[in-house]
Amino acid sequence: MSARRLFTSHLRNNMVTWRHDFHRHPELGFGEHRTAARVAELLESFGLTEVHKGVGGTGVVGVLDRGGQTPPLPGGRAGSKHKAGRKVRGGGGGGCLAIRADMDALPFTEVPGCAYVSTNAGVMHACGHDGHTSMLLGAAAALAEMPAERLGGRVLFVFQPAEEHGKGAKAMLDDGLFSKYGDVERVYGMHNIPGLAVGTFETRGGPIAASESLFEIRVEARGGHAAMPHMGVDAILVGSEMVSALQSIVARKLDPGLNGVVSVTGFEADGQRNVLAGNATLSGDARALTPQVTAEIERCMRQLVGGVAAAHGVSATVSFDTIFPATINDAQAAAAAAAAAASLPGVGAQNVVGDCSPQLFSEDFAHMATAKPGAFVLMGNGLQGRHARPLHSADYDFNDEALEYGSSLWVQLALDHCKRTS
Ligand SMILES: [Zn+2]
Ligand SMILES: [Zn+2]
Repeated sequence: MSARRLFTSHLRNNMVTWRHDFHRHPELGFGEHRTAARVAELLESFGLTEVHKGVGGTGVVGVLDRGGQTPPLPGGRAGSKHKAGRKVRGGGGGGCLAIRADMDALPFTEVPGCAYVSTNAGVMHACGHDGHTSMLLGAAAALAEMPAERLGGRVLFVFQPAEEHGKGAKAMLDDGLFSKYGDVERVYGMHNIPGLAVGTFETRGGPIAASESLFEIRVEARGGHAAMPHMGVDAILVGSEMVSALQSIVARKLDPGLNGVVSVTGFEADGQRNVLAGNATLSGDARALTPQVTAEIERCMRQLVGGVAAAHGVSATVSFDTIFPATINDAQAAAAAAAAAASLPGVGAQNVVGDCSPQLFSEDFAHMATAKPGAFVLMGNGLQGRHARPLHSADYDFNDEALEYGSSLWVQLALDHCKRTS
């Protein structure tokens, strides 16, 4: 399919150039100094109304206000949230939309396969955040070029640090993202999906990405001589029974209609060849699509671990830390995204799924979608080669062909939202 009518060739080429530059210079979460500086420099060059740096660490917020001053709201609420005596939002009653991209990379070495391979040893853009950042820059440039009356509202372009840590969105929110720069009504985020065709989009109302909880179980047994096991208690045997018992949470404790995953990913013990282990530590990761399922997994885990430990007369502790909440899409925001995608040239309704299956990966965007109604959208990254390799693979790459589609969706959503609410 062709997307040639969406953007000028100049802007298309710029997005590719920006993306390759970010790819060559990947930076880890909260260390995106070069990336953030380049983003801010470009936003300023587009003539945006405001550009704010250092939001939540290395975050950047660009504001395009195409509405002028906002009259007081009915009911005397004007100024209730802002010292300046007026609500900061698009003028003339226009809407205020936030669109978020992530900027961070991952701590491993890229398998060379492109001309713009990472020059930062041991760091690579293996999740496509170089593409996400470039798409949002492209949308900011395109919207800034349009006549002011065509937008008629206020758009926040949010460039978030540290998505992979699960800390960047929260840091920006704690720094006033949704109160300082506009009276944000809705927020959107997007991720590329390898193995999904370029020019296709998926989203859904309700849960779209899972929560992630990290757990650690410490077993304190007694160890002993390998030839005299009856004199001690083997922490490896106790821990192994716990690994088996934990499999029953998803298989036998959760409603089969609900999604959940419990994976034990680490098992360390202090035994020697002829010495039974006295201590063992199990670590792992649990996923769920609702807070209720997360709570049930934790409850079952504590019960099973306590039961196995008691059966062997040893002590065990469980730490369970939910670092990403589930990403819950607002139904109307998701429907608006699906409609906007279907209206794009070269896409059409046949390439948009508005009720896709939820994903069991986790997204830091969850914090933003919890703070404001919003939707997370999945976009095809291609079916072949490096574009179809799983995210977080050392030979994955974002697809330049997808830039224009993602960027166009942002432009269309901004226009639709501001028109709807003006
Ligand atoms: Zn990632
Ligand atoms: Zn990612």
